[in-house]
Amino acid sequence: LTSREFHPTDTVVDVDGVKIGGEENFVTMAGPCSIEGLEQIMECARIAKNGGATILRGGAFKPRTSPYAFQGLEEEGLKYIRQAADKYDMKVITEVMDEANLELVAKYTDILQIGARNMQNFKLLQAVGKTGLPVALKRGISGTIDEWLNAAEYIAATGNQKVIFVERGIRTYETATRNTMDLSAVPVIQKLSHFPIIVDPSHGVGVWDYVTPMAVAGIAAGASGMIVEIHPDPNNAWSDGQQSLNEKRYMNMMEQIHVMENTM
Ligand code: PEP
Ligand code: MN
Repeated sequence: LTSREFHPTDTVVDVDGVKIGGEENFVTMAGPCSIEGLEQIMECARIAKNGGATILRGGAFKPRTSPYAFQGLEEEGLKYIRQAADKYDMKVITEVMDEANLELVAKYTDILQIGARNMQNFKLLQAVGKTGLPVALKRGISGTIDEWLNAAEYIAATGNQKVIFVERGIRTYETATRNTMDLSAVPVIQKLSHFPIIVDPSHGVGVWDYVTPMAVAGIAAGASGMIVEIHPDPNNAWSDGQQSLNEKRYMNMMEQIHVMENTM
């Protein structure tokens, strides 16, 4: 069901009016790594919208490497991001980490994000599939494209045809970047699957200086959109500040993205 043999034309995922895939415009999802409070997410939404993003990102359940690191505001955060998105007429994408919180997260979001660490959590994939909501499926930290396609199949097999692939970088021997952003995944997925693919240059490289060139490279490679981390004050972000763009850098990146859009 994920294969292009099954469905030769591009699937366009309709997120309540915002369309992702096919010949549709490049879609930008922007926002903080973590929702830190109402004021912070409101400010992020203002910045995101101003640069042209139509979908607001922000984590309320955070899959942190250390159990002692900030784990997210949970339902309080979900309420804040919904409120901020509604104020700026944006859609919401947020991560669901487990089945126990799926109903709660589904109540507030427009797109369910499956994190890299859960790409092969098959029971979770089946459960999110059954909600009927669009699902953004991040590539596993060491996930092959074949494993990723099979993960998407778990979602599609529930009857859900709203899958969005997210290339977020993979683990290699390189240490200058947090992950190695595999841009070749864009044309490879497009050849093998009818579902759209977007890029996540923030986690893809993990260093803000490299985010803009990789976002531009993503659109050049033919991605249907991107998901990017921004923060009004990256130095004081509660998570992923080192890869988050401040307002000025984000606006600068979006200018370049708009130029690319008009030349493609
Ligand atoms: C995130 O989007 O903040 C995140 C935790 O991403 P990933 O699952 O790709 O590490
Ligand atoms: Mn993050």
